[in-house]
Amino acid sequence: MRKKIVAGNWKMNKTAAEAFVLATEVAQLVKSEVPADVQVIMATPALYLTGVSQVIEGIDNLAVAAQNCHEKASGAYTGEISAVQLASAAIPYVLIGHSERREYFAESNEQLAAKVDAALANGITPIFCCGESLALREGGEFLAYVADQLTASLFHLSAEEFGKVVIAYEPIWAIGTGLTASAEQAQEMHAHLRVHIAAKYGATVADNCSILYGGSCNAKNAQEIFAGPDVDGGLIGGASLIAADFITIAKSF
Ligand code: 13P
Repeated sequence: MRKKIVAGNWKMNKTAAEAFVLATEVAQLVKSEVPADVQVIMATPALYLTGVSQVIEGIDNLAVAAQNCHEKASGAYTGEISAVQLASAAIPYVLIGHSERREYFAESNEQLAAKVDAALANGITPIFCCGESLALREGGEFLAYVADQLTASLFHLSAEEFGKVVIAYEPIWAIGTGLTASAEQAQEMHAHLRVHIAAKYGATVADNCSILYGGSCNAKNAQEIFAGPDVDGGLIGGASLIAADFITIAKSF
């Protein structure tokens, strides 16, 4: 059975002191309120990953994620952090291909494939983000477009490697806009991606793949969205910055 996952993407938010408070609050609430079969993840700014790791130590279903990694192992790439370095600091997850990285940092499908490879080679679970723009949604080609993002950056993997990847569907038009995909729209895409994965890797691999929804998911709408049979949790932006809201989402299965 595939994992239920609720991951918070803090993006470029919180000072060091605020990050400590938020991580401490989340840790307490995960321990006392979140069922053990729900994996909770906090994708913090890189600066806070090791500090937050210490705060959450010993809580089996709570982990940190980096928001990005570089595809090269080391070298003259000022400001970047490699998957080798993340692994050396025991960081278990990394977001790859968030639409903000694709847009503002011009990350291509090919580069994302290399990042996925680097993460997997270092034992880090990639949370691979995909999703269409509003223009693509309105143009009607969105299902094929998002499936093609998976093909381009993930389908070079072996079935064993692919089995380690988590997918996050985040329609760009729903990110930070307050416009959520309806539960039906999320389910439609997730089911489509699962069929696409099954065609490449077979039904078992597809069944075992966790596919998260992201985009204005909050404490009020999470339950309805997570009710979709192919929706295995969420990647949460704004609402992950408030511990009580984030935990309500983690309890929304
Ligand atoms: P919001 O939940 O703020 O819309 O952000 C979603 C997101 O981009 C998570 O990665």
